Amino acid sequence: MKRRRSSRRKAPVTRRENDDGEGKESKQNGRLMVRPNNNHVPQNYNDLESNFPSQIFTHMETYLPINMLNVPRNDKANYIRHILNDYLPPQQHTRDKKRREYRQKILSNYKPLHKKLYTLDPSKFFVPTFLKAIKKNTEQSFRSIISEPSPGIFTFEMLQPRFCELLVSEVENFEKWVNATKFQVIRPSTINKYGVVLDDFGFQTMLDKLMKDFISPLSKVFFAEIGGTTLDSHHGFIVEYGEDKDIDMGFHVDDAEVTLNVCLGRQFSGGELFFRGMRCDQHLHTISHPEEIYDYFHFPGRAVLHHGRHRHGARATTSGNRFNLLLWCRSSVFRQMKTYKTDFSGWCGVCYQEKKNMLLKSIDETELKIANRIYGLQALSKGKGKGKAPA
Ligand SMILES: [Zn+2]
Repeated sequence: MKRRRSSRRKAPVTRRENDDGEGKESKQNGRLMVRPNNNHVPQNYNDLESNFPSQIFTHMETYLPINMLNVPRNDKANYIRHILNDYLPPQQHTRDKKRREYRQKILSNYKPLHKKLYTLDPSKFFVPTFLKAIKKNTEQSFRSIISEPSPGIFTFEMLQPRFCELLVSEVENFEKWVNATKFQVIRPSTINKYGVVLDDFGFQTMLDKLMKDFISPLSKVFFAEIGGTTLDSHHGFIVEYGEDKDIDMGFHVDDAEVTLNVCLGRQFSGGELFFRGMRCDQHLHTISHPEEIYDYFHFPGRAVLHHGRHRHGARATTSGNRFNLLLWCRSSVFRQMKTYKTDFSGWCGVCYQEKKNMLLKSIDETELKIANRIYGLQALSKGKGKGKAPA
């Protein structure tokens, strides 16, 4: 294991995902009933492309005005979306609209190479051991296929070689289209010059299902404290490394509660992930403890699941080409709650150390007080003894 001083580079700023359709109703029409209509059975919105959780749509449908209850689902979704959008800051509203237009432009012009990849097919995508463990859905079944080489870093076999191969060729086909049409493509983050956002060219619904049905069961067990039980949105993308691509990735944290990183191949050397401990915002630029230093070597089909605040980077891919699938899983509930929290000692290495030091200090102080008291009592009893001694 190599040891290296942690760099102090700032975390990259990444784009938020914005996929909401545009509401057509005017503001005065965007009203809800005070009480839900309990006789109405709401529709399912799981496949809806939106950055609001689909359950919100199902829940809000029961509050729709009576004349809206039986209109087509898309009309109901647009009506609800319009109300929800009122709660977004204006800048985000504009950003969302631009991203929707951008995606629409791609979807109406790009022809997928492998259409079957766009619908989740567990038996074709995942290796049997992974499927079996998820189906069993117990910590024991997960532990049977997962290793935890360093605290909070979980690795396991996940994707079938054939699926990896097809996904890489789909990405290459998309890049070919981008080059041929000179399309102004948005890269996964501000520091990537290569790579593609899968959610931008039709993979959003598939990746959402992947997160809900296959990553959430794991994150509920291993990342409950940091929003793993309430994942409700994602940012899904592919990174490309190699001599003529991005070379490496600097030290950073992800804009995610839980990150899934799966190597898709192909032939390459180098490109190890180096981890340097979890940190809260306040302690982001602090040094690493020796036990937090861990290097991970990629292997095609194998996944790494880690806390988004686990500081990491990728070393240079020294030969060949490396493709990785990244799924940044987010929880809006956790982000709301986090604004009221100050103690992150459950996972931040520095907060934990500070809390431990305080505890030790208070134990020391208590011990000192007790010792002083005992000493005082002993001195007192000796003094009394002297007084009683016969003259
Ligand atoms: Zn901290």
